[in-house]
Amino acid sequence: MKPNKTYTGLSDREVTESRLKYGENIITPPKKDTLWKRFFTKLEDPLIAILIIAGVFSTGISLYEYFGMHGEKSVFFEPMGIFIAIFLATGMAFFFEEKANKAFSILNKINDDDPVEVIRNGNTTKVAKKDIVVGDIVLLNTGAEIPADGELLEAIALNVDESTLTGEPICHKSVNPDDFDSDATFPTNHVLRGTKVMEGHGMFKVDRVGDNTENGKVFVATQIDNNVKTPLTEQLNKLSKLITIGSYVIAALILIGRMVMYFVSFDFSWIYFLQYLLTSIMICVTLIVVAVPEGLPMAVTLSLAYSMRRMFKNNNLVRKMHACETMGATTVICTDKTGTLTQNQMRVNKVYKCSNDNIINKCFIEGIAVNTTAELDLTEPKRPQAIGNPTEGALLLWLKDQKEDYRLLRQEAEIIDEIPFSTERKYMATLVKTACLPNKYVLYVKGATDIIRCKCKEIAGEAKWDNIDKQLLTWQNKAMRTLGFAYYIINEGEEILQHNNPIEKLMASFNGNERGLTFIGIVAISDPVRLDVPFAIKECLKAGIDIKIVTGDTPGTAKEIGREVGLWNDDVDKENHIITGAEFEQLTDEELQSCVLDLKIIARARPMDKKRLVEALQKCNQVVAVTGDGTNDAPALKAAHVGLSMGDGTSVAKQASDITIIDNSFNSIGRAVMWGRSLYQNIQRFILFQMTVNVAACLIVLIGAFMGTQSPLTVTQMLWVNLIMDTFAAMALASLPPSKRVMEDAPRKRSAFIISPAMKKNIFLMGGAFFLVLVALLFVLEHYTVLHVTDLFHLSHHADKGMTAYELSIFFTVFVMLQFWNMFNARAFCTGRSAFHLKGCKGFLFIAAFILVGQIAIVQLGGDMFNVSPLSVIDWALIIIITSLVLWLGEGIRFITKWIYKCI
Ligand code: ATP
Repeated sequence: MKPNKTYTGLSDREVTESRLKYGENIITPPKKDTLWKRFFTKLEDPLIAILIIAGVFSTGISLYEYFGMHGEKSVFFEPMGIFIAIFLATGMAFFFEEKANKAFSILNKINDDDPVEVIRNGNTTKVAKKDIVVGDIVLLNTGAEIPADGELLEAIALNVDESTLTGEPICHKSVNPDDFDSDATFPTNHVLRGTKVMEGHGMFKVDRVGDNTENGKVFVATQIDNNVKTPLTEQLNKLSKLITIGSYVIAALILIGRMVMYFVSFDFSWIYFLQYLLTSIMICVTLIVVAVPEGLPMAVTLSLAYSMRRMFKNNNLVRKMHACETMGATTVICTDKTGTLTQNQMRVNKVYKCSNDNIINKCFIEGIAVNTTAELDLTEPKRPQAIGNPTEGALLLWLKDQKEDYRLLRQEAEIIDEIPFSTERKYMATLVKTACLPNKYVLYVKGATDIIRCKCKEIAGEAKWDNIDKQLLTWQNKAMRTLGFAYYIINEGEEILQHNNPIEKLMASFNGNERGLTFIGIVAISDPVRLDVPFAIKECLKAGIDIKIVTGDTPGTAKEIGREVGLWNDDVDKENHIITGAEFEQLTDEELQSCVLDLKIIARARPMDKKRLVEALQKCNQVVAVTGDGTNDAPALKAAHVGLSMGDGTSVAKQASDITIIDNSFNSIGRAVMWGRSLYQNIQRFILFQMTVNVAACLIVLIGAFMGTQSPLTVTQMLWVNLIMDTFAAMALASLPPSKRVMEDAPRKRSAFIISPAMKKNIFLMGGAFFLVLVALLFVLEHYTVLHVTDLFHLSHHADKGMTAYELSIFFTVFVMLQFWNMFNARAFCTGRSAFHLKGCKGFLFIAAFILVGQIAIVQLGGDMFNVSPLSVIDWALIIIITSLVLWLGEGIRFITKWIYKCI
């Protein structure tokens, strides 16, 4: 029984004092490994370990050369270069991974900011979870996560999921000592932080916060779940394996080639042979390091982290990483109506009372005040805010407009029993000892009119059902949510009042004939469509994504909303495009399978209908995203490929979901699709770039091994190339801004291989062309004396001589510059635009500039460490201009393709 106690809660001063004394409601995250420890785990990569060992050997040989053979100090440059390159490559990758991980920690912060309903200064208001203090009085509603530990003051049909702490999924909570369970792990009248209200509502006084709560003792920080194997990660793993095997084969061939060349060209000497063997092994290992796309997971992580951060700015809080990507493959979105398509700014628009009788009128008012779980935040009396269920909040706001004080009305009527609203039941009922009639009890019921009507025996006053139905239809056709009100009077002392669950018993006994409720009125609540929704829907439809409205509202209201958002067209859409929950349930699985794709609206739906719809669509090979806000939506959210919970939704729904749409708006869902698609394309761009470099680098080092004893790219040079294509390219390409253009394409096939046919063509054509150019250059440099780049245009000094440091520098720079320009081509891939369209690509341009400056610095200053000798300004200018042909060629192809598309 609910005592009519009023609580004033803490005052602002008491809140401050309590916070000082007992601390904040924040749990200190568990300590992570130190930065150094985390960095050293990077060096555990077997390839890096081999390189380090090779570096140590190389140092040993250099020491021998220096002390044993009285060599120059420069013999140490090569091992030094190797160590610097290893440190740089791993260090960079580590830095960006750390940065990405930091982005994920926002999830915990967001959880701490979740709003909680409390009573303070005698008023009901909302504060952030972290601001709850010991002594606060917190209100609990269905679906809420309990923010701190405390003792219950009130509990109505309260069931709590304590599985996070005790493994108990449903724990009945009560303040009635008769209900106390002596075997329960925690007292029946206690609630604990981190557990969730599955049913009912209540109120509790906080006695422990933050680290002192039970949850604080066992806290594990919420993490973005990035272990899920998505189709993309599976494909990438496959691709990595393929490249790894390929690179091992090529490395083995290189080793054989170099050994053969050694015995063909040199007289055998142990010390020289050992040195040569070590260099060869290092070249092979380095080539594997270059070829193996270690940057791929990093590109994906960076891409996801970048998308996550940006999506967060666009009101999408990603809870499970894979969702970012899956959103891009979505083919169907099943959306709620209230709050997602509409503004959730509910206001009572029309009220129709069946009778003008004074007592009935009083009961109507009392019913609205007591038969509710909502509250009004009256901190600013001129702008009262509804807290809790928005429909009930709208009714309380209407009461306020009628100059009625709902809190006073609630105090005067003693509440005996209550059944809160649920989407399955579609009504709420409260039994009170009324203040309107002496010695009487009244059962107030409000809910979907069609449901209540079956339980009604009569209508108050002169009204007829026909008139009521007509009125309802008119309102529904204006997209308004309609609600019916009824009551039942009980005399004091009647037996039913002694029953444990009197409402349940009463409702079960109402058959609408001799025993039943009296219908007293209807109300229409308006909730305008969000302004940006029609455009967002249009965009999704254009992107080949089907949208289905799943609503608990009537078919009339749902259809009108459908019309307003541009989803329903009376000329085209027929009855087979709309179905009610009841009809939906009647369908066999086969029938459902045959009509599910045509459905546009499910009205009067129940949460389990949503789950069935999701599963039926999945069986039709659709990638389904579904929205949900209620606790009962959790099964559908879990079943969907991407579950989207609403910012205003319950904690249960949020935790079952993959993404939380903070502003509840459908527009944000559309943007999540755009991000998902762009992310996939960015990863494709990275792969395209990396594979092209791979093909060129592997083949050229392989050919080099058979052409001469000197490797065309030294170990340190290859490590620089690796840094460019793995780390820098991942950074540059993985975080390119999303393009609206992706919304003009059809959704990609979920099973399609990430390397599309267009990419394959590109990789082999470009990689092959680079290889041919580089082989020709290698041949020329091996056989002709080149003292300036201009000498390449009139070759005359023919000699079979090997390559000088200067010639090696030309080769190395041409190799890097070809890749440099090709990075712009990769950026333009799939955009249908010129590579010079670089709006919003600041990061990309910065990294491109960094690569160019880095290359110049290495060649001009690298000396023996990089096996290079400086080039002149003219050399640089010529190499940059000539290699840029790659970009101009790409531009030409893009222009012609665009032109052909236009002509078609
Ligand atoms: P949507 O898809 O628009 O979000 P929903 O699935 O949330 O809708 P419900 O909340 O289940 O829809 O509402 C279904 C019907 O139940 C409404 O049309 C209304 O008549 C009635 N109803 C809604 N809220 C309440 C409430 N708090 N108390 C009583 N009846 C309600």
